[in-house]
Amino acid sequence: MSIENDEQFSCPYCAESNALVVDITGGANQTFVVDCEVCCAPIVVRLKIRGEEIISLDVRRENE
Ligand SMILES: [Zn+2]
Repeated sequence: MSIENDEQFSCPYCAESNALVVDITGGANQTFVVDCEVCCAPIVVRLKIRGEEIISLDVRRENE
């Protein structure tokens, strides 16, 4: 069973708000790259999950 959470973050390039669907069951520490919906730049997203809760959502530019 997968549990999904809708999250939002600001793009580190253009500061626009992006929506993100997180699969809570994907692991306690997740790192992946998404393209900004507005400027299409690659954003590195890091998640920390405890139980069914996202305790940390960190975004940064690729290559930082
Ligand atoms: Zn952007």
